[in-house]
Amino acid sequence: MRAAPGYLARVTAPIVAIDGPAGAGKSTVARQLARRLGFTIIDTGAIYRSVALAAQRAGVSWDDDPGLARLLDAGLGLTFRGERVLLRGEDVTEAIRTPEISRGASVVSARPVVRQKLLQLQRDLGRAAPRGAVLEGRDIGTVVFPDADVKFFLTASDEARAQRRHAELAEKGLSVPLPEVLADQRRRDKDDTERAIAPLRAAADAVVVDTTGFDLEQVVERCFREASQRLKHLISGQP
Ligand code: C5P
Repeated sequence: MRAAPGYLARVTAPIVAIDGPAGAGKSTVARQLARRLGFTIIDTGAIYRSVALAAQRAGVSWDDDPGLARLLDAGLGLTFRGERVLLRGEDVTEAIRTPEISRGASVVSARPVVRQKLLQLQRDLGRAAPRGAVLEGRDIGTVVFPDADVKFFLTASDEARAQRRHAELAEKGLSVPLPEVLADQRRRDKDDTERAIAPLRAAADAVVVDTTGFDLEQVVERCFREASQRLKHLISGQP
């Protein structure tokens, strides 16, 4: 049987991977890119954050591997409703973004048992997206979807990233001193890049975008053009 024209015998929708350190603009770019492409956005950091919150609530330490394994085997009860994150039906979108849970997410994400158990969940979420998915994280292009159709690695200077994060927190009414934001970010960067399993790094075939000094609108535009170009053959049937 011949594949329908334009779909080249593919059974799954396109996958766009966006990786990079905290504060590089991933969330904004991923959200707007997904909207413009008509794809589903999957924020994988929210999944690690939810594990940290669920563990804390269950009295399981963030480095207790057997406890974390039990928690995940029992099922997290995590669902996404648009950009809202629900844990057993409760909206935890804000609760997972506190500095404490950010630290917890960094700790649980370094545990191989957690990464292993979340791998399938992320792949299932990506493949279930009806038109395509934009997945945002640290290891999407390297581990979760090494065959992603388009891979971006967003980066920016430490100071630019901390300033963005600082402004974001201020917008939410949280006044955290800039040096504290920077120190916390450096700690997380170190954990993310130095961990033994799935460390943060750009995939060899990723488009690396340095967002320092750029307005995120400009970055979205650039990524959209690049993604549209690379995805064109999936829709038009051209090589
Ligand atoms: O992206 P976000 O800051 O919400 O991610 C929270 C934490 O989860 C990160 O600091 C990182 O340690 C971890 N993470 C990860 N792999 C991903 C996404 C997030 O290790 N794919």
